Amino acid sequence: MKQLAILSGKGGTGKTTVAAALAHLASQDVPIVIVDADVDAANLELVLSPKVQEEHPFYSSKVAVIDEELCEACGECYDVCRFDAVTPPEARSDSDAYVIDPLACEGCAVCYYRCPAEAIRLDEPQDGLWFRSDTPFGPLVHAHLLAGQENSGKLVSEVREQARKIATAGGQAYLVIDGPPGIGCAVIAAATGVDLVLVVTEPTVAGVHDLERMLAVTEHFNIPPLVCTNKCDINLEKSHEIDDYCARRGIAVVGHVPFDTVVTEAMVQGKPVTAYEDGPVSRELRNVWERVEAHLASS
Ligand code: SF4
Ligand code: SF4
Repeated sequence: MKQLAILSGKGGTGKTTVAAALAHLASQDVPIVIVDADVDAANLELVLSPKVQEEHPFYSSKVAVIDEELCEACGECYDVCRFDAVTPPEARSDSDAYVIDPLACEGCAVCYYRCPAEAIRLDEPQDGLWFRSDTPFGPLVHAHLLAGQENSGKLVSEVREQARKIATAGGQAYLVIDGPPGIGCAVIAAATGVDLVLVVTEPTVAGVHDLERMLAVTEHFNIPPLVCTNKCDINLEKSHEIDDYCARRGIAVVGHVPFDTVVTEAMVQGKPVTAYEDGPVSRELRNVWERVEAHLASS
């Protein structure tokens, strides 16, 4: 099984548009599994019409909680906590008990082990949900991080692992991963160990800067990158700048997708643009897929 991650240095470049199109086109050639690894803002599902088959809770962190009935107010937990998560009674006006702030607690469990009264327990709050869904183009594994929860990198790892299991059991040839934007740990979780990264960029000053940052990440993790410039005709000078930059670094630019409002129309209709129309955008995305597939075949 080959793994392709579609990434961008920032949001709004059209990464998900490209990912949905490539998932559609790839599925016409071979069976695939699709992964929406943008767990903070999952929107691949908006254009793939998924029907949820399974829903699973996701837990990744622990939080210490004091049982006031058992607490003997010795102050040990306050003394040992390195994250200032424990508030002593003298610092509170609404309670005379020691209290742990769940947002500050890192779940390190030091207080749990040190409490002489065994008054501290470690709870596992739910961080999110992951789903296995059917789409017209293959199984989709996607997830939602609950509001206020962190650890999106762990949830990304979870959806990738679940997708890998499905592909291994089902014999699918490709994992097509729509990654999160940016260069944070969730992006690294989405890209680690893949065979190829397709970086979607746009011809703007910010786009060029974010492309450079994204390519630094792929270089650091030794992942072969390809580049696709989306909305290339909104600034041809910057688009050429991207081509020149990539040429100097020996990185192939596998597509120059023009701006077209048909992309928004397809999104409103809940379809990948390549399944919606056959104009210049879709034709260029077909070229992109052919080139990406050729690189995957030789990777
Ligand atoms: S260490 Fe245990 S007994 Fe002591 S203040 Fe903390 S919770 Fe209470
Ligand atoms: S689990 Fe660790 S971080 Fe949380 S309150 Fe206890 S000592 Fe502090």
